[in-house]
Amino acid sequence: MQCPRCFYLDRRIGIGRPPGFPFALNSAVDHLLKKEFDIHRAAGNKHPLMEKYGIDAVPAKHDKLDEWRHNFTGVGTLHAPTNFYVFGAIDDLWLNAAGEYMVVDYKATAKEEEINALDKDWHDGYKRQMEIYQWLLRQNGFTVSSTGYFVYCNGKTDRKAFDGKLDFDITLITYTGNSEWVDKALIDAKACLDHNEIPKQNAACDYCDYVAAVQSSTKSPTDAVSRVTVNESPYWPTPTPKKKITPPTLF
Ligand code: SF4
Repeated sequence: MQCPRCFYLDRRIGIGRPPGFPFALNSAVDHLLKKEFDIHRAAGNKHPLMEKYGIDAVPAKHDKLDEWRHNFTGVGTLHAPTNFYVFGAIDDLWLNAAGEYMVVDYKATAKEEEINALDKDWHDGYKRQMEIYQWLLRQNGFTVSSTGYFVYCNGKTDRKAFDGKLDFDITLITYTGNSEWVDKALIDAKACLDHNEIPKQNAACDYCDYVAAVQSSTKSPTDAVSRVTVNESPYWPTPTPKKKITPPTLF
């Protein structure tokens, strides 16, 4: 959905994007929220946030919940038309009065403004994430509500001093998902991988422009950068094609 070229480089040729820094603070918020909701799950009652927003649901109990929340297992399914195994780890699952599961995702950030809606362009990824989880659970035979929730924790920066703690405003954002796009996206992804040419770069992405700039600078013998080409650099893995592909040039 983001860039077929990066996807192809990663999944077919085996060159993943460089990892970013781990979001340790976000992970800490996730971890504590899970613990907090688990207390109410064990007691079979609503979390105060659910009471505050009038949500007629409780944190769901299920034998597989830990597996579904684990990054390396998650909720998974084999998509027969592509033979892809698709999986993703959910943050939480609630059960509403109608007996439907509701997907819940925790988000942590620190913004000046109050967060009450998913109205930015980059929120599209969050919405797709929710829709994939709903789709995965339905593929596993569960009845899943199209209504999902984002528990949004916004770190407050208007305190006089840090004082060794960070306070958060917590809002609940309701989102109605529609997973109809998933099947086609997977089929398109398979077609992308089966193709023998690397897809074009995303014109809006700075990174490929950067690589192109490095490559063009290497054409100048007077430029210091010319002594290091992309594939000779020790910091770039040599691509190992999984199948014979043409052309072999990456960028
Ligand atoms: S355009 Fe950006 S996202 Fe796409 S392959 Fe290049 S670096 Fe990756």
